[in-house]
Amino acid sequence: MSTLLAFLAHPDDESFGIGGTLAHYARAGVSVHYLCATRGESGTVDAHRLEGYASVEDLRDTELACASKALGLASYAYLGFRDSGMKGSPDNARADAFVQADIDVAARRLAGFVVAHRPNVLITHDQYGGYGHPDHIQCHRATLRLYELAWGIRIGYAPDGASTVSIGAPLDPALADGMPAPRLFYSVFPKRFVRWGARALRWTGKDPRRWGRNHDIDLVQIASWDLPPHVRIDIRPVIEVKRAASACHASQQMPTKGQPLIQRLFFRRSADERFSQAYPAAPARGRLKTDLFAE
Ligand SMILES: [Zn+2]
Repeated sequence: MSTLLAFLAHPDDESFGIGGTLAHYARAGVSVHYLCATRGESGTVDAHRLEGYASVEDLRDTELACASKALGLASYAYLGFRDSGMKGSPDNARADAFVQADIDVAARRLAGFVVAHRPNVLITHDQYGGYGHPDHIQCHRATLRLYELAWGIRIGYAPDGASTVSIGAPLDPALADGMPAPRLFYSVFPKRFVRWGARALRWTGKDPRRWGRNHDIDLVQIASWDLPPHVRIDIRPVIEVKRAASACHASQQMPTKGQPLIQRLFFRRSADERFSQAYPAAPARGRLKTDLFAE
Protein backbone atom coordinates (compact mmCIF):
# COMPACT_ATOMS: atom_id res chain seq x y z
CA MET A 1 0.00 0.00 0.00
CA SER A 2 1.27 3.47 -0.94
CA THR A 3 1.50 6.08 1.78
CA LEU A 4 1.88 9.84 1.55
CA LEU A 5 2.77 12.12 4.46
CA ALA A 6 2.40 15.87 4.16
CA PHE A 7 4.34 17.88 6.74
CA LEU A 8 3.27 21.52 6.69
CA ALA A 9 3.11 24.30 9.24
CA HIS A 10 -0.53 25.24 9.88
CA PRO A 11 -4.10 24.00 9.92
CA ASP A 12 -5.15 25.23 6.40
CA ASP A 13 -1.85 24.70 4.53
CA GLU A 14 -3.04 21.17 3.70
CA SER A 15 -6.16 22.54 1.98
CA PHE A 16 -5.24 25.94 0.52
CA GLY A 17 -1.85 24.73 -0.64
CA ILE A 18 -2.04 21.08 -1.67
CA GLY A 19 -5.63 20.06 -0.99
CA GLY A 20 -6.16 18.93 -4.57
CA THR A 21 -3.16 16.62 -4.45
CA LEU A 22 -4.10 15.11 -1.07
CA ALA A 23 -7.67 14.55 -2.28
CA HIS A 24 -6.41 13.08 -5.57
CA TYR A 25 -4.25 10.48 -3.82
CA ALA A 26 -6.78 9.70 -1.11
CA ARG A 27 -9.34 9.03 -3.86
CA ALA A 28 -6.82 6.76 -5.59
CA GLY A 29 -6.54 4.60 -2.47
CA VAL A 30 -3.28 5.99 -1.12
CA SER A 31 -3.07 6.29 2.66
CA VAL A 32 -2.69 10.05 3.08
CA HIS A 33 -1.60 11.57 6.41
CA TYR A 34 -1.16 15.16 7.49
CA LEU A 35 1.36 16.21 10.12
CA CYS A 36 0.82 19.82 11.12
CA ALA A 37 3.74 21.50 12.88
CA THR A 38 1.60 23.95 14.89
CA ARG A 39 -2.00 24.48 15.91
CA GLY A 40 -2.22 27.86 14.19
CA GLU A 41 -2.49 29.78 17.47
CA SER A 42 -1.22 33.01 15.87
CA GLY A 43 -3.77 33.06 13.08
CA THR A 44 -5.88 36.19 12.87
CA VAL A 45 -9.47 35.23 13.67
CA ASP A 46 -12.51 37.49 13.69
CA ALA A 47 -13.96 37.63 17.23
CA HIS A 48 -17.42 36.37 16.23
CA ARG A 49 -15.92 33.12 14.92
CA LEU A 50 -14.53 32.26 18.36
CA GLU A 51 -17.96 31.95 19.92
CA GLY A 52 -18.31 28.45 21.35
CA TYR A 53 -14.59 27.73 21.24
CA ALA A 54 -12.14 27.78 24.12
CA SER A 55 -9.32 29.26 22.04
CA VAL A 56 -8.06 29.98 18.55
CA GLU A 57 -6.34 26.57 18.45
CA ASP A 58 -9.56 24.87 19.50
CA LEU A 59 -11.41 26.55 16.63
CA ARG A 60 -8.66 25.75 14.15
CA ASP A 61 -8.52 22.11 15.23
CA THR A 62 -12.24 21.83 14.49
CA GLU A 63 -11.60 23.38 11.08
CA LEU A 64 -8.76 20.95 10.39
CA ALA A 65 -10.89 17.97 11.42
CA CYS A 66 -13.52 19.15 8.94
CA ALA A 67 -10.94 19.58 6.15
CA SER A 68 -9.32 16.23 6.92
CA LYS A 69 -12.67 14.52 6.51
CA ALA A 70 -13.42 16.40 3.28
CA LEU A 71 -10.05 15.49 1.78
CA GLY A 72 -10.34 11.83 2.80
CA LEU A 73 -7.22 11.82 4.95
CA ALA A 74 -6.32 8.68 6.87
CA SER A 75 -5.15 10.81 9.81
CA TYR A 76 -3.90 14.17 10.93
CA ALA A 77 -1.70 15.01 13.90
CA TYR A 78 0.29 17.87 15.38
CA LEU A 79 4.04 17.99 15.80
CA GLY A 80 3.43 20.02 18.97
CA PHE A 81 5.08 23.39 18.49
CA ARG A 82 3.42 26.78 18.80
CA ASP A 83 2.52 28.85 15.78
CA SER A 84 4.88 31.72 15.01
CA GLY A 85 3.77 34.88 13.27
CA MET A 86 5.16 36.42 10.14
CA LYS A 87 8.64 37.92 10.33
CA GLY A 88 8.77 40.56 13.07
CA SER A 89 5.73 39.28 14.98
CA PRO A 90 6.04 39.28 18.81
CA ASP A 91 4.80 35.65 18.84
CA ASN A 92 8.13 34.62 17.33
CA ALA A 93 9.97 35.52 20.54
CA ARG A 94 8.03 32.98 22.64
CA ALA A 95 10.11 30.05 23.81
CA ASP A 96 7.55 27.54 22.51
CA ALA A 97 7.29 29.17 19.05
CA PHE A 98 8.18 26.78 16.26
CA VAL A 99 10.78 29.25 14.91
CA GLN A 100 12.60 29.02 18.23
CA ALA A 101 12.70 25.23 18.20
CA ASP A 102 16.04 23.47 18.19
CA ILE A 103 16.14 22.02 14.69
CA ASP A 104 17.40 18.64 15.91
CA VAL A 105 14.54 18.39 18.38
CA ALA A 106 12.06 19.17 15.59
CA ALA A 107 13.72 16.68 13.23
CA ARG A 108 13.66 13.91 15.83
CA ARG A 109 10.02 14.55 16.61
CA LEU A 110 9.27 14.43 12.89
CA ALA A 111 11.15 11.11 12.68
CA GLY A 112 8.67 9.56 15.10
CA PHE A 113 5.76 10.31 12.75
CA VAL A 114 7.68 9.29 9.65
CA VAL A 115 8.58 5.84 10.99
CA ALA A 116 5.07 5.40 12.35
CA HIS A 117 3.50 5.91 8.90
CA ARG A 118 6.44 4.77 6.72
CA PRO A 119 5.50 7.00 3.78
CA ASN A 120 6.83 6.45 0.25
CA VAL A 121 6.36 10.16 -0.42
CA LEU A 122 6.91 13.12 1.90
CA ILE A 123 5.76 16.64 1.03
CA THR A 124 6.89 19.80 2.81
CA HIS A 125 7.41 23.51 2.18
CA ASP A 126 10.22 24.84 -0.03
CA GLN A 127 13.22 26.77 1.27
CA TYR A 128 11.35 30.07 0.89
CA GLY A 129 8.43 28.80 2.92
CA GLY A 130 6.18 29.37 -0.11
CA TYR A 131 5.41 32.99 0.66
CA GLY A 132 8.02 33.46 3.37
CA HIS A 133 6.26 32.34 6.55
CA PRO A 134 8.93 31.51 9.19
CA ASP A 135 7.07 28.33 10.28
CA HIS A 136 7.01 27.07 6.70
CA ILE A 137 10.76 27.59 6.45
CA GLN A 138 11.19 25.79 9.77
CA CYS A 139 9.28 22.74 8.43
CA HIS A 140 11.65 22.72 5.49
CA ARG A 141 14.73 22.91 7.73
CA ALA A 142 13.50 20.20 10.10
CA THR A 143 12.80 17.88 7.17
CA LEU A 144 16.24 18.39 5.67
CA ARG A 145 17.82 17.78 9.06
CA LEU A 146 15.90 14.52 9.39
CA TYR A 147 17.26 13.30 6.04
CA GLU A 148 20.76 14.15 7.20
CA LEU A 149 20.42 12.51 10.62
CA ALA A 150 18.54 9.37 9.60
CA TRP A 151 19.89 8.64 6.12
CA GLY A 152 23.02 10.74 5.65
CA ILE A 153 21.30 12.56 2.78
CA ARG A 154 22.39 16.17 2.50
CA ILE A 155 20.04 18.28 0.42
CA GLY A 156 21.27 21.64 -0.83
CA TYR A 157 20.34 24.15 -3.50
CA ALA A 158 21.57 24.85 -6.99
CA PRO A 159 21.66 28.50 -8.14
CA ASP A 160 18.31 28.06 -9.91
CA GLY A 161 16.67 26.92 -6.65
CA ALA A 162 16.61 23.21 -7.57
CA SER A 163 17.86 20.69 -5.03
CA THR A 164 21.26 19.11 -4.94
CA VAL A 165 21.80 15.82 -3.14
CA SER A 166 24.94 14.32 -1.63
CA ILE A 167 25.02 11.14 0.39
CA GLY A 168 27.27 10.36 3.32
CA ALA A 169 27.07 8.43 6.57
CA PRO A 170 23.88 8.93 8.60
CA LEU A 171 24.51 10.68 11.91
CA ASP A 172 21.83 8.68 13.73
CA PRO A 173 20.71 5.72 11.59
CA ALA A 174 18.49 4.36 14.38
CA LEU A 175 16.10 7.24 13.66
CA ALA A 176 15.18 5.66 10.31
CA ASP A 177 14.05 2.45 12.03
CA GLY A 178 15.14 0.47 8.97
CA MET A 179 12.97 2.30 6.47
CA PRO A 180 14.38 3.84 3.27
CA ALA A 181 14.24 7.60 2.80
CA PRO A 182 10.91 8.64 1.30
CA ARG A 183 10.79 10.53 -1.97
CA LEU A 184 10.77 14.20 -0.97
CA PHE A 185 8.89 17.01 -2.68
CA TYR A 186 8.38 20.70 -2.00
CA SER A 187 5.05 22.31 -2.71
CA VAL A 188 5.63 25.14 -5.21
CA PHE A 189 3.42 27.44 -7.22
CA PRO A 190 4.03 29.24 -10.50
CA LYS A 191 5.30 32.74 -9.75
CA ARG A 192 3.79 33.97 -13.00
CA PHE A 193 0.48 34.23 -11.10
CA VAL A 194 2.13 36.25 -8.37
CA ARG A 195 3.58 38.66 -10.92
CA TRP A 196 0.11 39.07 -12.46
CA GLY A 197 -1.38 39.55 -9.02
CA ALA A 198 1.18 42.23 -8.10
CA ARG A 199 0.41 44.05 -11.33
CA ALA A 200 -3.34 43.78 -10.77
CA LEU A 201 -2.96 45.21 -7.26
CA ARG A 202 -1.01 48.20 -8.59
CA TRP A 203 -3.83 48.83 -11.09
CA THR A 204 -6.30 48.97 -8.23
CA GLY A 205 -4.05 51.36 -6.30
CA LYS A 206 -2.88 48.82 -3.71
CA ASP A 207 0.68 48.10 -2.60
CA PRO A 208 1.75 44.58 -3.70
CA ARG A 209 4.54 44.68 -1.12
CA ARG A 210 1.97 44.88 1.70
CA TRP A 211 -0.71 42.39 0.70
CA GLY A 212 -3.00 40.16 2.75
CA ARG A 213 -5.31 40.77 5.66
CA ASN A 214 -2.34 41.69 7.86
CA HIS A 215 -0.47 43.56 5.11
CA ASP A 216 2.60 41.41 5.74
CA ILE A 217 2.93 39.61 2.42
CA ASP A 218 5.40 41.01 -0.11
CA LEU A 219 4.27 39.77 -3.52
CA VAL A 220 7.19 41.41 -5.31
CA GLN A 221 9.70 39.40 -3.26
CA ILE A 222 7.66 36.20 -3.49
CA ALA A 223 7.64 36.48 -7.28
CA SER A 224 11.44 36.25 -7.21
CA TRP A 225 11.40 32.94 -5.29
CA ASP A 226 11.14 30.47 -8.14
CA LEU A 227 11.87 26.76 -8.07
CA PRO A 228 11.73 24.35 -11.00
CA PRO A 229 8.64 22.11 -10.83
CA HIS A 230 9.01 18.39 -11.57
CA VAL A 231 5.53 17.05 -10.96
CA ARG A 232 2.21 18.56 -11.92
CA ILE A 233 -0.96 17.08 -10.43
CA ASP A 234 -4.11 17.83 -12.41
CA ILE A 235 -6.59 18.67 -9.66
CA ARG A 236 -9.61 19.49 -11.82
CA PRO A 237 -11.33 16.17 -11.02
CA VAL A 238 -11.11 16.97 -7.28
CA ILE A 239 -11.48 20.75 -7.37
CA GLU A 240 -14.80 20.58 -5.51
CA VAL A 241 -13.15 18.53 -2.76
CA LYS A 242 -10.39 21.13 -2.44
CA ARG A 243 -12.98 23.88 -2.33
CA ALA A 244 -14.97 22.06 0.37
CA ALA A 245 -11.84 21.45 2.46
CA SER A 246 -10.76 25.08 2.06
CA ALA A 247 -14.23 26.22 3.11
CA CYS A 248 -13.75 24.31 6.39
CA HIS A 249 -11.07 26.87 7.29
CA ALA A 250 -13.61 29.67 7.41
CA SER A 251 -11.62 31.66 9.98
CA GLN A 252 -8.64 31.87 7.64
CA GLN A 253 -10.36 32.83 4.40
CA MET A 254 -9.03 35.95 2.77
CA PRO A 255 -11.58 38.71 2.78
CA THR A 256 -12.70 38.50 -0.84
CA LYS A 257 -14.32 41.89 -0.96
CA GLY A 258 -12.51 44.11 -3.40
CA GLN A 259 -10.01 41.41 -4.39
CA PRO A 260 -11.91 38.65 -6.19
CA LEU A 261 -9.34 38.58 -8.97
CA ILE A 262 -6.46 38.01 -6.57
CA GLN A 263 -8.44 35.45 -4.62
CA ARG A 264 -9.08 33.50 -7.77
CA LEU A 265 -5.54 33.74 -8.99
CA PHE A 266 -4.12 32.29 -5.81
CA PHE A 267 -6.49 29.80 -4.32
CA ARG A 268 -9.41 28.85 -6.41
CA ARG A 269 -9.36 28.11 -10.06
CA SER A 270 -5.91 26.63 -10.35
CA ALA A 271 -6.09 23.55 -12.52
CA ASP A 272 -3.02 21.98 -11.02
CA GLU A 273 -0.67 21.83 -8.06
CA ARG A 274 3.08 21.62 -8.57
CA PHE A 275 5.95 20.03 -6.74
CA SER A 276 9.69 20.37 -6.94
CA GLN A 277 11.52 17.10 -6.37
CA ALA A 278 14.20 17.30 -3.70
CA TYR A 279 15.05 13.62 -3.25
CA PRO A 280 16.05 11.63 -5.21
CA ALA A 281 17.84 14.37 -7.15
CA ALA A 282 16.02 15.35 -10.32
CA PRO A 283 17.21 17.28 -13.38
CA ALA A 284 16.33 20.96 -13.09
CA ARG A 285 14.34 21.16 -16.29
CA GLY A 286 12.49 18.50 -18.19
CA ARG A 287 9.08 17.10 -18.88
CA LEU A 288 6.75 17.48 -15.92
CA LYS A 289 5.73 14.17 -14.41
CA THR A 290 2.18 13.53 -13.28
CA ASP A 291 2.74 11.26 -10.29
CA LEU A 292 4.70 11.83 -7.07
CA PHE A 293 5.17 8.07 -6.68
CA ALA A 294 6.62 7.43 -10.17
CA GLU A 295 10.38 6.72 -10.26
ZN1 LIG B 1 0.97 28.11 6.76
